Amino acid sequence: MRSNPPQMASQAQRTHLEEMADVRRFFETLNHADTFRYCLNLNRDRYPDAPGLAASTIVVCIDTEGWDASSNVVKELGINVFDSRDMARLTSPGPWGMHIMKNIYFYFARIQKHAHLRNKNASAGDPEKNRFGQMRFLDDREIIDCLKDTFEWPLGNVDDGVVRPVVLLGHALDNDVEKIEKYLGFDLMAKGNLVKQIDTQVIARNVGHWNHPNNQIGLTRLVNNLDFTYRDGHTASNDAAMTTICAIQLVLSNKYKGAGQPRSLQNVVDQTERDSQSHDWSHGSKLFCFRCGSRAHMVNRAPNGYCQARVRCTRCAIERPNSQWGHRSETCVMTMFETSNSSRPNPNRRRGRQPPASQTDVSAENSTIPTASTPIQTPPIGRGTQSTQPPAPTSSWAIIAARPAPDAMGPTRSSRGRLVVRPASLRPQQRDANNGKP
Ligand SMILES: [Zn+2]
Ligand SMILES: [Zn+2]
Repeated sequence: MRSNPPQMASQAQRTHLEEMADVRRFFETLNHADTFRYCLNLNRDRYPDAPGLAASTIVVCIDTEGWDASSNVVKELGINVFDSRDMARLTSPGPWGMHIMKNIYFYFARIQKHAHLRNKNASAGDPEKNRFGQMRFLDDREIIDCLKDTFEWPLGNVDDGVVRPVVLLGHALDNDVEKIEKYLGFDLMAKGNLVKQIDTQVIARNVGHWNHPNNQIGLTRLVNNLDFTYRDGHTASNDAAMTTICAIQLVLSNKYKGAGQPRSLQNVVDQTERDSQSHDWSHGSKLFCFRCGSRAHMVNRAPNGYCQARVRCTRCAIERPNSQWGHRSETCVMTMFETSNSSRPNPNRRRGRQPPASQTDVSAENSTIPTASTPIQTPPIGRGTQSTQPPAPTSSWAIIAARPAPDAMGPTRSSRGRLVVRPASLRPQQRDANNGKP
């Protein structure tokens, strides 16, 4: 009898969706802390009747950073991901969950078209101070591909459309989910495999760490309470990592915490941070110059120091001729303000007058860049290139990043291949679940 492959595939899909529904119902019976414990293999013996597919869950922790001038602009996406199957191979979580953390993978994506935007509020982070995972710049297509690879792991060895369940972790997660769906354009429900969203604010309540009747605990306070250091916050990847590490500490048994451990929590966090720098991935580009649009250099590390490519904004050429030479049309902040939902004053209202350079985005941007009337100076050969680097403005919505970012230096890796947000295809040595020494 001949088989009918399409029908069989459809049947397999139907069966799989039923199993997925079982997993969803199962996790519904667990609170956020126990759901996370289940994925970490910390409590599975309590649920002998759990659907088998639940043990293949992928846990994804996300954090987004926006532009503080507009709530509909996403600048950064931090992703931490682990495979529950890896956790099942651990013989113990290790001190402070060290063995768990060795099986989590960290990625820092910057939205390329928004790489020039800078936040000005008091708590603004600096993406060049990213600590967890490697930073890469992704265009619109690449960010979707990256998210697909993150959320749609094949269940088996064949990529037949049958995917694993996903539990999504975050801190005050609703905001991040909205940004991913509305502003990055990725449908988290498309495959029907997002079985639960869990939140560190709820986990903290579940385990009795936080009981305030009205207020939710903030991430900074949570990190402080758990007694490790929150460094360079408000970049998406650093915040995602803090969220994941806090969640682990909250659900971990006291047996693996406290003064009697052979290592300190800070030591484990520091080691996790160092390890994460080797989590290579391939979507997008390691380098991107927001000034000229090149993927061959960063703006402050072009061949002659600060990028001196000749760029021009056609809009400003008409409306503000003195400002036309500092940026490309694609990165014109005037346009950004108009197309975003910014509640800030629209710089167009200033059209026709020249405000002080220190008070506006556009003028600050232009003040730092050679203009038509300021010929580009090429440094003498053999002299340091820093002398030609324009000073960074202090109050600009558009960034002029001038700090060195060691992580982004060095040889450029291929940006062609598909991403690799899948742990199993990343660092082979990390597949050995207990490779860390206590
Ligand atoms: Zn450039
Ligand atoms: Zn412009």
